[in-house]
Amino acid sequence: MRMSTGRHYIGGDFVVPARGETADVFEKATDTKIGTYALGDVDDVRLAVASALCAQPAWAARLPAERAAVLRRMAALLESRVDEFVSTLVRETGGVIAKARGEVAAAINRLQVCASLGALSRGDVQPSPKHGKLTLLERVPLGVVGVITPWNFPLVLAMRAVAPALAAGNAVVLKPAELTPIAGGQLLAEVAAEAGVPPGVFNVVTGLGPAAGQPLAEHPDVALIHFTGSNAVGRLMTSIAGLRRTSLELGGSNAFVVLDDADVQKAATCGAWSSFDFQGQTCISSSRHIVDRTLHDDYVAALVRQAGQIVVGNPIQPGVALGPLISAEQRDRVHSLVSRSVDMGAQVLVGGKYDGLFYEPTVVVGVTPEMPLFVEEVFGPVAPVTAVDDEAEALELTNSCQALVNAVHTDDLMRGLAFAQQLHSKNVHVNDAGPRPTDADDVDLDEFTRRRWIGVQR
Ligand code: NAD
Repeated sequence: MRMSTGRHYIGGDFVVPARGETADVFEKATDTKIGTYALGDVDDVRLAVASALCAQPAWAARLPAERAAVLRRMAALLESRVDEFVSTLVRETGGVIAKARGEVAAAINRLQVCASLGALSRGDVQPSPKHGKLTLLERVPLGVVGVITPWNFPLVLAMRAVAPALAAGNAVVLKPAELTPIAGGQLLAEVAAEAGVPPGVFNVVTGLGPAAGQPLAEHPDVALIHFTGSNAVGRLMTSIAGLRRTSLELGGSNAFVVLDDADVQKAATCGAWSSFDFQGQTCISSSRHIVDRTLHDDYVAALVRQAGQIVVGNPIQPGVALGPLISAEQRDRVHSLVSRSVDMGAQVLVGGKYDGLFYEPTVVVGVTPEMPLFVEEVFGPVAPVTAVDDEAEALELTNSCQALVNAVHTDDLMRGLAFAQQLHSKNVHVNDAGPRPTDADDVDLDEFTRRRWIGVQR
């Protein structure tokens, strides 16, 4: 048994929860118990925030190079334990090995990139409003950063906030998703402890959202809540935060548009991947396929073919491309979206059935903008298809839902570009789909620091 199992990581120690309660963690494909996690509550959160508050000034006072060395050690330790992380991610999330490998690699990269952030200029000499006055601008850490993460990419989405927050001199309290507390929290705590992150600078409190996440968001000494998850909880975070800083990474209903001149086979291959990869449980999955009517039947036939070729099963097995959904609750939600849309007139061409948590890759046609499959983020291996008469209708329907990343497929790149420029989403792909197309603004130190101006009168 690992030291961290069933415990929080607070003030540099693996501690039993205040109420003494734990819950089990299960392998999603087999329902086998793979560990336990501490059920945290307000007292655990208070202790973690107090530890972070106490440790943060000394961490911020360290030389940037010293903080960088600690982050690099964390990266090296992750690398040395890559097989353990990959196996835990596969079992805990139900994603395939390649997804887990990509996630660990991205987390390592994040640590390495953030390690070098401290060496960059963090200040400026600014124009002064008075003669003889020197105005300095510096960026200082916020203090304690609370990080709340979801289950779909538990390691890298934690690292997305933890690494820059630490690099900037903040202390962190991380509350990972209750479905993935091992890869999302416990293993990270082990790595931080071994890498020499000073006690209290990085803390992990596990537990349920309302019991452990909410007290963290409500704590007055938490300067920033960095939340990744659903829109519903995101709204709650905003209402709790008041005047405090909140950073929200939420969901949306992403569109995959196929214009009348697209290469149908290429588009369908990309569209299938973007709806079925990791069982459709990513914030960048395509939730709506909006297809020109002239290509609709060919496109749908190709999607159905692709769906039929996908091997569903335990993701630890070679050759399996689609694992289980994360939970029965998630499966029921996905199935209800399909069933309610069918009740409204949509038609399932393939899939629409499940065995335990294994949901078959599903293609649904005749989806109209009023249907749940169109309006809501699906978060399951379902490709809902909507036929449109022309580009104008495709544009209107795409922009009718909030999305993180939309995609458009066409044989004419300039047409694709013009279409992309009219979309409301922050990210758009032309003839592709998936993660946002840039890493450029990925690490935003401004998010984890505040500005301070100092005027010195000569
Ligand atoms: P969720 O909102 O249910 O949970 C996310 C986290 O919030 C978990 O740690 C949970 O315990 C916690 N939480 C739940 N209730 C809380 C409360 N009352 N107070 C404080 N914390 C609370 O989301 P999920 O189901 O874990 O993740 C799926 C969602 O995340 C999808 O909507 C997806 O699009 C989104 N997501 C977005 C991104 C992005 O980068 N934009 C990345 C991954 C996932």
